Amino acid sequence: MTDPLTREAAVTLQVYGQLPFVPTDAHSCDLVTSEGKRILDFWGGHAVAVLGHGHPRLAKAICEQSERFVFQSNAVALDIRATAAEKLVSIAPGRLARVFFVNSGAEANENALKVAFMSTGRKKVLALTRGFHGRTAAAGAVTWNASKSWYGFPTTPFDVDFIPRNDVAAAISMIDDSVAAVIFEPVQGVAGAFDLSPEFVSSLRKCTSKSGALLIADEVQCGMGRSGQYFASEAYEIEPDLLTVAKGLGGGIPCGALLCGEGLAETIGVGALGSTFGGGPVASAAIAAVIDTIQAEDLLANVRQREAEIREKCHVGPVQSIQGMGLLLGLVCDRPAIEVRKRLLEHDILTGTSSDPNVLRLLPPLVLQAEHVTRLAGELSDIGAMI
Ligand code: PLP
Repeated sequence: MTDPLTREAAVTLQVYGQLPFVPTDAHSCDLVTSEGKRILDFWGGHAVAVLGHGHPRLAKAICEQSERFVFQSNAVALDIRATAAEKLVSIAPGRLARVFFVNSGAEANENALKVAFMSTGRKKVLALTRGFHGRTAAAGAVTWNASKSWYGFPTTPFDVDFIPRNDVAAAISMIDDSVAAVIFEPVQGVAGAFDLSPEFVSSLRKCTSKSGALLIADEVQCGMGRSGQYFASEAYEIEPDLLTVAKGLGGGIPCGALLCGEGLAETIGVGALGSTFGGGPVASAAIAAVIDTIQAEDLLANVRQREAEIREKCHVGPVQSIQGMGLLLGLVCDRPAIEVRKRLLEHDILTGTSSDPNVLRLLPPLVLQAEHVTRLAGELSDIGAMI
């Protein structure tokens, strides 16, 4: 029988450049391919597999809930949905005490923007240069450069302007009382794990508070423990008005969420937002299991430890500097990152690229071990620097 790469190519839209292997099994940080190779996964399915692959706790929670029932709509209250929401609120920054469940990162951002328009009555949004927020109409509209490549809709649904990232003076002059919301990623994932300066993030918080705009932290990629805190906003010591999360939230089960405080929640009435699948029981069981496991296995400490080791050992070979936070790191290379990625994959290590051609992105499972870092460092060292 023909291999799945060829079969997918024959019947699916060819919008993804696919990798040259087919996983048939996966355990922790290893992918096992159809050829029997073990590939060390520093990519984590694009920051999704926070618990690694095949974590028994996650698998058990999903199976047990599936045996009870796979689906019930939001028209009925569920013990497992309440549990997931309580656990998520318990790890959220400050006063973010209310949750709305959705199915993806773009959908979480779409709803956050809608809440900002409804609650402020204003018509304009500011985002950051290089930011990525998803591919739907509103999330794509606030994504840097989307209009020049893949946006696809004839017009954006509202006015958008982009603040040059890390430009405090621009933030001060652009955030005025016409702005409904400023949306930003504390650590810009697709841009190459670029961590914004604390001064800039603090200026976003101060200017939005002053002008009455809402600050939306998109933690779809950098949230759920990846930064070494539950949420990167905490590392910047700010509390956003709205926070969005997805990717690692369900450890691989599709889900997303929007969090806000009590004050904002009071402005959102029955029927204002909705979703058929958001907050479904299997996703809720997965969310609860992910949070329980991060806590039971002290994964935030593990993330910080592995980050320290990567910074110490992986600044070798083609790597000129390291940016980012926790286990969302960008290795700035002396050559196109795609070449380094290819070399590493030839030695059975999977890493990611980014929209910055020279940045190799690491987004491994949060259960990464010291021996994995040592192996990556060794391979990078063998590649050597460009002469
Ligand atoms: N926001 C950020 C920061 C992301 O990295 C992504 C996806 O990469 C999204 C939003 C969109 O998430 P999804 O693909 O789940 O819609």
